[in-house]
Amino acid sequence: MKNLKIREDFLPYCLPDISDKEIDSMLGTLKSGWLAKGPKTLEFQHKFAESVGAKYAIGLNSCTAALFLALKCYNIGPGDEVIVPAMTFSASANTILHCGATPVFADIDPETGCIDTESIKSKITSRTKAIVPVHYSGLPCDLDTIYEIADEHGLIVSEDAAHAVRTFYKGRAIGNKVRNTASFSFYATKNLATGEGGMLVTDDEAVYNRAIMLASHGMDANAWKRYGKGGSWQYDIIEPGYKYNMFDLQAALGLIQLSRMDEMQAKRFELVSIYDSAFKQLPQIKLQYEPDYAGHSKHLYIIRINSDMLTIDRNAFIEELNRYNIGTSVHFIPLHMMTAYKKYRDVRLPNTMEWYESIISLPLYSKLSTEDAEYVAEVVTKIVEEHKK
Ligand SMILES: *Cc1c(COP(=O)(O)O)cnc(C)c1O
Repeated sequence: MKNLKIREDFLPYCLPDISDKEIDSMLGTLKSGWLAKGPKTLEFQHKFAESVGAKYAIGLNSCTAALFLALKCYNIGPGDEVIVPAMTFSASANTILHCGATPVFADIDPETGCIDTESIKSKITSRTKAIVPVHYSGLPCDLDTIYEIADEHGLIVSEDAAHAVRTFYKGRAIGNKVRNTASFSFYATKNLATGEGGMLVTDDEAVYNRAIMLASHGMDANAWKRYGKGGSWQYDIIEPGYKYNMFDLQAALGLIQLSRMDEMQAKRFELVSIYDSAFKQLPQIKLQYEPDYAGHSKHLYIIRINSDMLTIDRNAFIEELNRYNIGTSVHFIPLHMMTAYKKYRDVRLPNTMEWYESIISLPLYSKLSTEDAEYVAEVVTKIVEEHKK
């Protein structure tokens, strides 16, 4: 093995990809005088809905807001149970608690990391009202099976699509022919980034109208237009709502990001092929299995350390990568291990725990150079070679 020089600067785990086009677009909006929700937000909603093939999209200040509103729109509340994986970000389950409902953690499939459909079935009770499947890392869940379970038991499916801009299930974008709702995130680290931001997608007109109302104090329709010519000063508050609007500066950024998705995704796939070809040769590293139905958005690149074949565990592997100046992350620390969810600590989720103990997310973003990805691939290979059993 050739001698690998440790790079001098730290390679961040994630960086946004902002070009002059985004900067120009935001400057234009600043100069336009529309800062809050206005024409740019409407345009972004329209173009986003079109890009996934959904009837409606509502721009919000986060995916968390979208997940919360999705449950609210279907009147999920106290006494209701909602099935969600523990292998996800806290927002997927926190929003269930915010509604007053009870999260019920399901286990994951041991090869994909997405919620396991058999585990969903085993968790259904007479109180179950919804499922929150997470298209984990950008790999779609087994949606047909989940929709079937939902049909059989009359459940709502609120898809956590935070990782799923450009995820496809059987060739269709997540959000296309969506059963109830899909919630996308534009947080700074996501494939399409506006810093903070999210989009609630649905084909259900009632959900669309109610979500718009709830996202803006509970005001009646089109109250946001009240500052324009012909707008009325009158408005009503239908129910005590929230303040979750996307605003035009965000949308100005999002519109350009959306228009650059082909280019940015092509770069991700180029980097993924560098990683794939290096790691497919290493039996000590397992990669996420991609079923035939899956079109992966490559939001995260996850390697799984087979510690039976190595003298070091996942934590030591991360430290080694850090010594080589490579930033990494772990997606995710299971939610039932968190203080806020300590009463769930004894729930048996064996696949979730095994997955958690083996995973590392490597740097993957469109600003990452092919040289940097080659360096990461070489370092991972070297660490494996040096710690083989
Ligand atoms: C990022 C993320 C969210 C929350 O997105 P925000 O836009 O930050 O609210 C929800 N679920 C998952 C799985 C995420 O990774």
